[in-house]
Amino acid sequence: MERVIAKVLVNEEQIKKRVAELGEQITHDYADKNLLIIGIFKGAVPFLADLIRQIRIPIRYDFMAVSSYGSSTNSSGAVRILKDLDRSIEDCHVLIVEDIVDTGLTLQYLKENLLGRQPLSLKIVTFLDKPERRKVDIHPDYNGFVIPNEFAVGYGLDYNELYRNLPYIGVLKPEIYEQ
Ligand code: 5GP
Repeated sequence: MERVIAKVLVNEEQIKKRVAELGEQITHDYADKNLLIIGIFKGAVPFLADLIRQIRIPIRYDFMAVSSYGSSTNSSGAVRILKDLDRSIEDCHVLIVEDIVDTGLTLQYLKENLLGRQPLSLKIVTFLDKPERRKVDIHPDYNGFVIPNEFAVGYGLDYNELYRNLPYIGVLKPEIYEQ
């Protein structure tokens, strides 16, 4: 699989260290609070799985699946919920776990949708942030790494549903997209 990678943006050691730091910060910020972590399928799965095991308070987690109309490299902003939460969130402090914030359109939609359900609070943690491409004013409360405007794969992020299982974040060789 490594043959397809042009360069590594974030390596396994950096991921481990940063996820531990985020877990510690979240543990501190949500001590004694009823925390519900909401993972966004499919990209956030590896990050969520690592992050929750670095959080040292009892938490719940659930998932949502959304589809942004358009291709994986160019999201249009229109979002449809494919899988919704199992229960109401009125008594919860909610933390959305996302793989990457790019234009910010997906998160803006999710944030507004979930705020409408009146949680006690709502924050966002994203593993990657690509601020150069932002189209809306959305700022993750916790962020793993800021990356340049390149199409990242690995650690949950795909190209045509492949490469989500790479244990680090990389950029594909140009010929992979041209196939
Ligand atoms: P946004 O709505 O912020 O533009 O994009 C959110 C979604 O687009 C992410 O959850 C992810 O699925 C996809 N996306 C954005 N940038 C990248 C990227 O660099 N690599 C991959 N694989 N997906 C991306």
